[in-house]
Amino acid sequence: MGDAAVLEFSREHVAAHEAGHAVVALACGIQVRRVEVHTTRINLKQTRHGWTDALEDIWMDTAPLSRKFKLIRRIALKAGGLAGECVAEMFDSNKSFHGAKSDIEQIGGALCELGLLEMSVEKVPAKFIELAVCRAFKTINANLSAFAQMRKELLVAGFLESPKMEPMWTDDDDRLFLAELVKVKP
Ligand SMILES: [Zn+2]
Repeated sequence: MGDAAVLEFSREHVAAHEAGHAVVALACGIQVRRVEVHTTRINLKQTRHGWTDALEDIWMDTAPLSRKFKLIRRIALKAGGLAGECVAEMFDSNKSFHGAKSDIEQIGGALCELGLLEMSVEKVPAKFIELAVCRAFKTINANLSAFAQMRKELLVAGFLESPKMEPMWTDDDDRLFLAELVKVKP
């Protein structure tokens, strides 16, 4: 959750969003260093309400997985925030998409690199976002107790250090998710 300048988000909303990112990251085998529910002013235009510090860049460089499938998992991870809001029934179409603006931009970047989206496109087609959120939603639902625990801890302490969870995302998930995305390519 990055850049909602004017909108207010409750701590519950932000905790659901960040726990969603964290669960999907861990499910995909990406370590998470820290998760926070904390409002910070980044600059005059940007306010950050929460943050999931997933060790994604290291994972992108070192994980024994094709770049294509890493990008697929990255898309799921970025959709994990919105999916967490959906699972927790905190999703609000008036503000959730705005709060997840940078997540959606990063989904767009991965789609471009995968050749599923033209570089010139200015908006990520809704169909892609829907598929990504759906995938992430299923992943969170399969790890509901870890998700609930993280939400709770985030609300109590405001942060979470190195949460652990067994990875569960498989090569089949990579293939299936890629096939779904290919099908809606504009
Ligand atoms: Zn987010």
